[in-house]
Amino acid sequence: MESFVVSARKYRPTIFANVVSQTHITTTLKNAIKNNQLAQAFLFCGPRGVGKTTCARILAKTINCQQLTQEIEPCNACASCKSFNSNSSLNIHELDAASNNSVEDIRQLVTQVRYAPQVGKYKVYIIDEVHMLSSTAFNAFLKTLEEPPSYAIFILATTEKHKIIPTILSRCQIFDFNRIQPQAIAQQLKAIAQQEGIAYEEEAIHLISQKADGALRDALSIFDLIVTFGSGKKLTYQDILDNLHILDYDYYFKITQALLDGNRADILLIYNEILDAGFDDHDFIVGLSEHFRSLMVCKDAATLKLLEVTDTVRDKYKAQATHAPLSFLLEALHLANQCDIHYKYSKNKRLHVEITLMKMMQHGTHLQATETKKKVSPKAHQPLSKDTQSAAQPHDKIVPLAKQESSKKPITQETPSIARNSILPVTTKIPQLEHLKKDIGNETTIEPTQTVAQESVATKQSFTKEELLKHWKAYAHQLKAAGKLSEYSILNQTIELEGTTILLTFTNPVQQDVLEGNKAALLAFLREKLQNTNIDIKTSLVKEEHSKVPYTAKEKFDYLAKKYPPLLVLQKRLALEVDY
Ligand SMILES: [Zn+2]
Repeated sequence: MESFVVSARKYRPTIFANVVSQTHITTTLKNAIKNNQLAQAFLFCGPRGVGKTTCARILAKTINCQQLTQEIEPCNACASCKSFNSNSSLNIHELDAASNNSVEDIRQLVTQVRYAPQVGKYKVYIIDEVHMLSSTAFNAFLKTLEEPPSYAIFILATTEKHKIIPTILSRCQIFDFNRIQPQAIAQQLKAIAQQEGIAYEEEAIHLISQKADGALRDALSIFDLIVTFGSGKKLTYQDILDNLHILDYDYYFKITQALLDGNRADILLIYNEILDAGFDDHDFIVGLSEHFRSLMVCKDAATLKLLEVTDTVRDKYKAQATHAPLSFLLEALHLANQCDIHYKYSKNKRLHVEITLMKMMQHGTHLQATETKKKVSPKAHQPLSKDTQSAAQPHDKIVPLAKQESSKKPITQETPSIARNSILPVTTKIPQLEHLKKDIGNETTIEPTQTVAQESVATKQSFTKEELLKHWKAYAHQLKAAGKLSEYSILNQTIELEGTTILLTFTNPVQQDVLEGNKAALLAFLREKLQNTNIDIKTSLVKEEHSKVPYTAKEKFDYLAKKYPPLLVLQKRLALEVDY
């Protein structure tokens, strides 16, 4: 094999016109040279591998060129240009501040600046990774930067502009380099492949330009790597997957389909296959998020251009996007994001990801279930069976139609008379704070603000406080699941039962209002679940006693959460836990 020159070096641009995607900078520089308004200090900022050092070198060569072209480009033919191209020019000094960042290094440079160039007009000093200079080195440099000799030009380059001290920033003309778009990188790679006589697959070039993340130099390195170690004369998609250890997007298409189909077995098997191939759980979940994002982008013609893939892959995305409802994608993105955030805290990473996948699947199938339900006419619901409710009973409008299963309950389970009598005030205390609340209730006046009119007595099932609490909590959790956190927090408190009346005390009138607003739905739920239309809710407001100070962290949090319900939202969003 003939000696292989690294593409990044071989194809490094030698004139401004060949610099990829930075025309805003090259044009400004050329104009400054043309008008003789060149600054003495430049700061080139931008991500790695986008052409900062290349531009600095071309600038140095151009201003020393003896025969500038019409387009203000170096001629690459004169003695000065030749010495630049062979790296033997004495008019260019490069200092890599990443490895030479001491005061001594800078002092040496400053001493050199004192000597005027023997040949050519300018001496150019390029300081790479200038943010790595120590603060004393910065200070030693400042004086020279402030009053440089007329022949000296400083080009400072950095990937981290925010680390440059203001005194330096204010003395430089600042240029911000762009991240290079994947299309531009792909174009460049294709041009090089053609010049080198290397056949390639469109997909392969595209994958490299995606993986380079805006850095042309990285793209060229990957290109060289694949050409050197790949299967042969051709650059293939499979070669790149193998060499860079990238997960094939086909896996994402497959697993998304399984999620939408609710095919649990397939999901787990595909995931297992991915792990068997040696891929990381975390990379997988991040990749899956990107896949969902791509599908979401496909949903709208306006955002379609954000999808940076080849045409064949674009069609695949479009096809899958038509099957994936937006609400599924949003929920799946949310779940994937949660999984990503909590990943490092999870002990069983694999299970953590699997749970996330199951949740996604459940959401997908739930959506499809509701879709099909919508299609069924509402008349299809089973009408209320007459044998359970006697016609003489007044129907409560809030009471929902009894479900089939509950109507099948034998009426003789308990005779109504016993049932009614068996409901006694329950004294079981479950939450600890109940005592405190009672005390407050006794000491301060309770002002019942609203009561619901008593219903006429009907045959009802008896229930215990435990049963009530079970359904009460179930309802509260439904609210929580629906994201109604303030409503949830209001229900998530101690309740008292007197006969069939549930007593709730509030210290905050707003909370009382919220509960009153939700009362009808809550009552309907409880009456149906407990088969008792006598159930009622009474709320009352008590004045909060100032002496009652929350003591434990949990009490403090509950106290604050009650006062400021958005705290619960915050707690949920950030997945915080109260430290007991
Ligand atoms: Zn020249």
